[in-house]
Amino acid sequence: MNKIEHIGIAVKNIENSNELFSKLLGAPSYKTETVESEGVKTSFFKVGSNKIELLEATNADSPIAKFIDKKGEGIHHIAFDVENIEEEVKRLTGEGFVVLNEIAKKGADNKLVVFLHPKSTNGVLIELCQEIILKE
Ligand code: ZN
Repeated sequence: MNKIEHIGIAVKNIENSNELFSKLLGAPSYKTETVESEGVKTSFFKVGSNKIELLEATNADSPIAKFIDKKGEGIHHIAFDVENIEEEVKRLTGEGFVVLNEIAKKGADNKLVVFLHPKSTNGVLIELCQEIILKE
């Protein structure tokens, strides 16, 4: 694994939270994106070389809606940047970690993503992400 790519924060209202985080970080969100397959609306902020991702549920069945019902707003996941997501998944399942999706899927911000089940990672939802390199 390379570095922490971003920290994901579950919020109830992304417009309000965009305003709040703009004030907090002193810079506006540089990107918003809805990932309908995941039931989330996302918004990204840069903090130096790090990123914060805000996530709002787009429907009641969204994992974000369920998370907020259970735990309230707050840190939802930590995402690590990886070079080769398939190899990382192989390595981590070999170490006994439980993956939520064995096959990487397309997430926000042009990334292939795999999530690890929090029950195998001390209660923290971990996201692996590999940048999708667009060939020209
Ligand atoms: Zn994320």
